[in-house]
Amino acid sequence: MPLPIAHGCVGAGIVALSRPKSSLGMDWHMLLFGAVLAIIPDLDFMLIWVFHLSNGWHRSFTHSILMGFIVTALLIGLLGTARIREAVAYGAAYLSHGILDFLTAKHGGGVELFWPFVHERFKLGLISFSELMHGITLSEMFKASLIELTIFAPMLLALLLVREFVLSGLRSSQGEA
Ligand SMILES: [Zn+2]
Repeated sequence: MPLPIAHGCVGAGIVALSRPKSSLGMDWHMLLFGAVLAIIPDLDFMLIWVFHLSNGWHRSFTHSILMGFIVTALLIGLLGTARIREAVAYGAAYLSHGILDFLTAKHGGGVELFWPFVHERFKLGLISFSELMHGITLSEMFKASLIELTIFAPMLLALLLVREFVLSGLRSSQGEA
């Protein structure tokens, strides 16, 4: 289970990639929304807590591909077809959560990617990243957060810098032409 830092960076990165001609000053709020959407699937912990559900609910429907499509469809309905590219980027940010959990799971439980059609849980099983099992301590969570910050924040920063400076150079040269 990567923590909110990794998921948030990936979600913001997806939205940034969908807007190559934009800049952080113009769309930071959109990147923030993408980050939030990429974190939201783990709010299934809240459902477990509020409704006293079993831990088996974690990584179930909220992490599925179908939910990614539902979120995309809802956003298209909300934003309108004129902003379909933006809605799809947000939907992809949401969907990235289940995919990242799938890619980084080895020892822990997998992801119900194909809910409600298949209830099997899938995990790639190659690397174990930030797999925090039950009973973790606060210091273990802090350490995992630092590792995620060290890996994912520079990647997002690099992407934003390329977009800000390389692509803005292209933008201005096109403007001069
Ligand atoms: Zn998750």
